[in-house]
Amino acid sequence: MPKSMDQIVSLCKRRGFLFQSSEIYGGINGFWDYGPLGVELKRNVRAAWWNDMITNHDEFSVLNGAPREFQMTGIETSIIMHPQVWKVSGHYDLFADMMQTCRHCKKLFRADHVWSMLSDSAWVKSFAECFEKSVSDDRIIFSSPAALNWARRRGPKVAPGLALVRNPEITMSWLAEDLQNQPDLDLGLPKLLQYMATEQKNITGFQMPCPECGGDLTEPRRFNLMFETFTGAIQTEENRAFLRPETAQGMFVNFKNVVDSMSVRVPFGIAQIGKSFRNEITPRNFTFRSREFEQMEMEFFCHPSESRQWYEYWRNRRFAWYQKLGIASDNLILRDHAQDELSHYSVGTADVEYAFPFLGPGEYGELEGIAHRGDFDLRSHMEGKLCKGPNGLELEKLADGSPKYKGSGKDMNYFDDQSREKFLPHVIEPAAGADRATLAFLCEAYHEDQQPDDKGEMQSRVYLKLHPKLAPVKVAVFPLIKKEGMPEKGLEIYRELKSAGIAAVYAQQGAIGKRYRRQDEIGTPWCITVDGDTMTAGTVTLRDRDSLEQIRLPVTGVVDEIARRLRVS
Ligand code: ATP
Repeated sequence: MPKSMDQIVSLCKRRGFLFQSSEIYGGINGFWDYGPLGVELKRNVRAAWWNDMITNHDEFSVLNGAPREFQMTGIETSIIMHPQVWKVSGHYDLFADMMQTCRHCKKLFRADHVWSMLSDSAWVKSFAECFEKSVSDDRIIFSSPAALNWARRRGPKVAPGLALVRNPEITMSWLAEDLQNQPDLDLGLPKLLQYMATEQKNITGFQMPCPECGGDLTEPRRFNLMFETFTGAIQTEENRAFLRPETAQGMFVNFKNVVDSMSVRVPFGIAQIGKSFRNEITPRNFTFRSREFEQMEMEFFCHPSESRQWYEYWRNRRFAWYQKLGIASDNLILRDHAQDELSHYSVGTADVEYAFPFLGPGEYGELEGIAHRGDFDLRSHMEGKLCKGPNGLELEKLADGSPKYKGSGKDMNYFDDQSREKFLPHVIEPAAGADRATLAFLCEAYHEDQQPDDKGEMQSRVYLKLHPKLAPVKVAVFPLIKKEGMPEKGLEIYRELKSAGIAAVYAQQGAIGKRYRRQDEIGTPWCITVDGDTMTAGTVTLRDRDSLEQIRLPVTGVVDEIARRLRVS
């Protein structure tokens, strides 16, 4: 059965994974709070990434087909950095989306999202329905009586801003005139919507309608996505600062500090997990596009001659990470960017993308980008803001020949004391979003099946098939009944699990079937039940969330068995 986003959002709220930020005040668009289970899930996602990148990294062996041995380091840098960082990196001038505003309802839209929002819009669906009988091969066989009828009856309720609704005759007259001159006029839905949104074609040209109310949208304008703030008491230009829109710059500006303090040798990586902020114009799709989110980024510094091999290595390794943690390969793709999609400095970029349930069939949303960034970043922080010139990257200059934004002037070159070579390393950057990864793991885990309840009647069961390493609770302990020493025994097992560092819960209220269901719904992989045999034979049942298989094992072996299962999962 296909999963719907509504089911997943409702489970997240019902069971304490995610809440809208400041919900009691009506929420704030683009911000989310992780509830008691969500925070554990996200911590586990971060831990899985950090373990893979740093803690479990064996720098003395060549693993997973790496071109050769390498070192990995971690860092945690500040959210607010020197404003020059963002000028030199290009974010100050270029980190912008094209934005359109509705002149009628004043809502803002990202220009590249307008068409997909129109396809989902309630009023467009209602408008298209009035031609239902005459739509063939995606071309609308237009009928003006049907359109006028819709404009007078349904239109005012669903699209009060639409020109056709506000002024039907004038709006229709342009179409009639054009149809007369060009009987073969292409009247696919996009074109038709433009006619219906345009009251004064001779003055304004075609208009795009607002996905919310049908009003006309302004021309696209640039809108910088960085949140601004001020440092210190006085709000002057000099004190203007920005909340970081990515964590990556923290690694670039500390490149020399890490080399000098850690005696690391190129090739090596610096990884960081931290909050980033983007004033997204249209935050949407739950946590997928938020204004405050967390990134897991790593900058890998290598010799230019080896950079392509390292790019291939990280591209494949990052894709495999999501698969290892349970994302079925059918729902996950690794998409190489076409040449014209690449940033001006990038030699290659690939995105790991997931088929989120809010997307249409065959559509995927980005989880992570793996980019070959060349020497762009280190060079920029050394020399100043770079731009594309006739012979590749060059310093961007003002009319008087001075650099537009000056770099630090610090020498960012690396000196290899063995080869005696001095060079500016190239960088491979796998940049992942912790919130998008968490959402993808949740969506992938969501399952429903039919199982008999305590009375043997079939009931639908919702369960989260989370990888054990990601599950917020690893094991639940239940006494079958609340007497005959079972609660005491259950608590004893629960405490042993906890003191071994295993996330366990204990529950004694309600029928046993209900208690299992609650754990299934939050993705707990295993349940331990204390029953009559525990008291006589010293054994408990261990139930598996996915197979529902129940085995008996000695009480004395519970902690070791759960720890073993977690280790091998
Ligand atoms: P998009 O094209 O979806 O806006 P992007 O290409 O700008 O994303 P990057 O700058 O490459 O994203 O950031 C790296 C990762 O950070 C993304 O792959 C994503 O997982 C995460 N990310 C970026 N923007 C957001 C956001 N607004 N909300 C949640 N996660 C985000």
